[in-house]
Amino acid sequence: MHELSIAYSVVEIASQSAREAGATRVNSVHVRLGALSGVVREALEFSYEIACAGTLLEGSTLVVRELPVKVYCAVCQMEVELSSIQLFCCSQCGTPSGDLRQGRELDVESIEVDLPGEDGSGVDVSGEEHGDTGTGDSQRNPEQER
Ligand SMILES: [Zn+2]
Repeated sequence: MHELSIAYSVVEIASQSAREAGATRVNSVHVRLGALSGVVREALEFSYEIACAGTLLEGSTLVVRELPVKVYCAVCQMEVELSSIQLFCCSQCGTPSGDLRQGRELDVESIEVDLPGEDGSGVDVSGEEHGDTGTGDSQRNPEQER
């Protein structure tokens, strides 16, 4: 299940951005997922929860935006969506095209964070000890799979 290593990369990227922004916690992470990325959305969402454990992202939501496959059609002279990923033809005029312009994406689009200055109204700390865990920067290498 390579989604797990992808999820770790997503978490890595998001927590780095969050740290740079001085965020205390991440509420949600938005990713773009191309239809040809080879990633199963459900598997990624599942893996994400595992990868989030013990990070700034724990308890956050992964928001997946699925992108359709687009090719460039020489006849229509524009980027068109494929009607089916089995059929690399222009959805407008039917001309076959292998000129892929969109569909392999897998990237972090944005993250939503809590900043220390912002008083998020109604934040319930529920008496949980917020132990200072230090930086604890892991040496994990986000193995970016191709
Ligand atoms: Zn066309």
